[in-house]
Amino acid sequence: MTKQERAEAFEKYLEEKYPVVVCSLNYQTPFQLLTATILSAQCTDARVNIVTKDLFAAYPDPFSLADADIEDVAKIIKSTGMYKMKSKNIIGMAKALVENHGGEVPQDMDELLALSGVGRKTANVVRGNFWQKPGVVVDTHVKRISGRVGLTDNTTPEKVEKDLEKLIKGEKQCDWCHRVIYFGREICTARSPKCGICGVSHVCKYYASL
Ligand code: SF4
Repeated sequence: MTKQERAEAFEKYLEEKYPVVVCSLNYQTPFQLLTATILSAQCTDARVNIVTKDLFAAYPDPFSLADADIEDVAKIIKSTGMYKMKSKNIIGMAKALVENHGGEVPQDMDELLALSGVGRKTANVVRGNFWQKPGVVVDTHVKRISGRVGLTDNTTPEKVEKDLEKLIKGEKQCDWCHRVIYFGREICTARSPKCGICGVSHVCKYYASL
């Protein structure tokens, strides 16, 4: 079976199992989604949503966050972990938006990557969810499951991203990633995947090797 055949069977299964997908981070604007995604590193989306309720009440846009006192921001976001670095990054990001982009989040990948705290994963989350731009978000679930199913032989996020971009149509990539995350939380979990109740075991490379 080719990678493309596996990918098509997997995509069909995911679309039937999870017909409706939503981003689990709360946000109103691209700036808020960008901020929430930076905060989500090594943290659950549920925790980020608790924190951003207060953060966005105090600093709803790049202009207010750019002027914020770093200690005040750190206090609000402390429970997301790595809060010193995250405070510095989100204030730096807001300052760059104000100084270089008129307070708007750029849609261009390279311009997004130039912002502090923004890597390809974060940039793809914002571009895909807000502007429906193609891009595969390689988080821990996407990386693990793509390898297990047999969609990639690579393990570095950039290479996995490139492999998956060839297998999933651009306009479907954002929703595909959301579905894989649902699937990773419910069925193909990190420690003990529930292969017995999985609807894609017939195309799964890992399952074939058991
Ligand atoms: S068969 Fe098992 S390892 Fe393969 S995708 Fe399903 S749950 Fe994951």
